[in-house]
This record gives sequence, structure tokens and C-alpha cells, in this order.
Amino acid sequence: MKKHNFSAGPSILAREVIENTAKAVLELNDIGLSVMEISHRSKDFQAVMDETVALFKELLDIPENYHVLFLGGGASLQFCMVPYNLLNKKAAYLETGTWAKKAIKEAKFFGEVDVVASSSDKNFNYIPKDFQIPADTDYFHITTNNTIFGTEIFEDYDSPVPMIADMSSDIFSRPVDVSKYGIIYGGAQKNLGPAGVTFVIIRDDLLGKVDRQIPTMLNYQTHIDGGSMFNTPPCLPIYTCLETLRWLKKLGGVKIMQKMNLEKAQLLYDEIERNKLFVGTAEKDSRSIMNICFVMKDEYKDLEADFLKFTAEKGMSGLKGHRSVGGFRASTYNALPKESVQALIDAMKEFEKLHA
Ligand SMILES: *Cc1c(COP(=O)(O)O)cnc(C)c1O
Repeated sequence: MKKHNFSAGPSILAREVIENTAKAVLELNDIGLSVMEISHRSKDFQAVMDETVALFKELLDIPENYHVLFLGGGASLQFCMVPYNLLNKKAAYLETGTWAKKAIKEAKFFGEVDVVASSSDKNFNYIPKDFQIPADTDYFHITTNNTIFGTEIFEDYDSPVPMIADMSSDIFSRPVDVSKYGIIYGGAQKNLGPAGVTFVIIRDDLLGKVDRQIPTMLNYQTHIDGGSMFNTPPCLPIYTCLETLRWLKKLGGVKIMQKMNLEKAQLLYDEIERNKLFVGTAEKDSRSIMNICFVMKDEYKDLEADFLKFTAEKGMSGLKGHRSVGGFRASTYNALPKESVQALIDAMKEFEKLHA
């Protein structure tokens, strides 16, 4: 039996996405060959790439003047590629968690970093509000969903400089006004596909403005010119992304997905608030709809391991919180069915009856 999969990443994919990928691994579109054993330059793989890009543009309503790239190296390589390609003197960063800190660390190799605001004072349990984005910076970088701490930025900020967003863990979870961003990037393995491919949505006027030389593979222009095929792209992960996008389109797109995600998150947050044993860690107005973090109230702390065991026995997986928050984290990505959230809520209620 398939488990309830709350893993933060790599994470749950829709059953039909996995099944269709399995079929293509055996044979792609009746061509007598696996998707893994054909040239990335063959017309069959080019069709996979073209449809993936087209669905990206359609489902996120990406304006004409943007490119969609599929690269290797994870979101972590983007922490380096963004400043390599864009940082001349100074860049602004919003520090909302571990991933933002890692992005800041890389940017410092290339220039000055202005951390416009940070929520480190409260272990990143909120999104800072009243901050100014300095107009004398080369760009402003944000992490829209903080996978580890369970906070999320739902607003597409107005920025006087190009806004760059790490959307690894909330891409396709809700509509985004792409026109407000210079670059949106992320690893696929949270809400889109398996590990191994990184998407980059990049506006076509951003490049060519830094003075330094950029190594070929780290230069976005290389990958724009090569249609993500300057070198061999991660063909199989891209294929799985395509299946996810087909599935998403069939369900009705990101607006419907947002509605479903809000519903799932609301159900679980309501139970966390109601239940005598648990307490949420993120501030209410910053709470993520993708990663729901909660702990046991102080008087019940010693029951945390028991609750993990209790849920594991009920077929739930991936609920242990990140070590920097502790407790529990239920990742409620697009592919997680409402039934899994309900199963967790039922377990919380049952555990409360046993212990409170
Ligand atoms: C997982 C994650 C990353 C790291 O992604 P890799 O592909 O492993 O480099 C970066 N940012 C966010 C927000 C993440 O959730």
C-alpha cells in the first residue's frame, strides 16, 4: 500500500505521473526506445523539451520576454549563478531562513550584500514586513517559501530593481505575477518532479551587465542560446516534470491548485490550533501552505517521538521536523491528497484522546 507521504523533498509526486514516467522509461511514445536511451537532440526528446517549456509558460502565464531553462546543479547552484551573472557592486537579500542564508553566502563572493531585513531574531518564524528595497542595488533576492521553517511570501513585491526569487518549494502551488520578477528558479524535487533538474525562468534583458568574465557553463546566456541543450540536459527528470505539468493542466491549473492547497493547509492549521497537544511554530500571517511546522506544547514535549511512531504505524512518512525547528513538518505539496491530511488530523485527534 502506498504511504501518506509528507516528505519535504524529494517529495510526493502524483501517482499517474510516476506511472507515466515508468512507461516512458520502458518505451517512449511507441518509438521502441526508452526516454533514457535516446539522444537529447532527437526529435522525440526535442518534443518533450518543447512541450515542457510550453506548459511552463502556459500554466504560469509567463510573458513573451522570458526564457525557461532546465539546468543541473540544483537550486544551490543558482545561489552562485545569480550573483555571477548579475551582481556588479551590491545586491539586496531578504533573509528568511536557511536557504536564504545560503544564497547570501554565495553572493558575498561576488560583491556587497545588503540584507534588507531578517527574521533570524525569532528563528525565522515570520516574514519581515516593513523593509525598503534599495534602488541602488543590482537586484533583490527573496525565498518565497521557507521549506524548513514553514513560512511563505504570498505577495509579488513591487521592486525598483530586478527581483530574483527562489521558488523551489512553492512553484505551481498558486498563481504568480511573473512579470514582477527578473528570475524565478528552483530545484524540481519539491513540487514538480524528481531531483536532478533545476528550472530557471529569466527575463531576456537582465544579462550582459556585469564586468567579469563568466565561465561558459555558469553563464545563463549559454543555456538560453542552446535551448537548455548546450550540454546534455537531465532528460529523465525533465520528462517527469512534463508529466506533472500535464497532470496539473488536466486538474485545471494553478488557481485550482491554490484552492486545494489552501483547503488542505486550513484543515491542518485548524486542528493544530484546536488540539491540546500541539502548537504551530510559524506566525499566523506568515504560515506556509506547503510546509506546515508544529511541535508539541512544552508540557507534552516528551511525547514527540511517540507521536512519530504512532503516525508511522498508520502509514505516514516524512513527518519529522527539520532539526533547526524540531517537532513535526507536514509538507502538503500539490500532489498530496486531502485524504492524507485528513489521516494526519485523525491521528492527532486519536493521540490527544490517549494523552491529554
Ligand atoms: C530544497 C531547497 C533548496 C535546495 O535545493 P537543491 O536543489 O537541493 O540545491 C533551495 N531553496 C529552497 C527554498 C529549497 O526548498
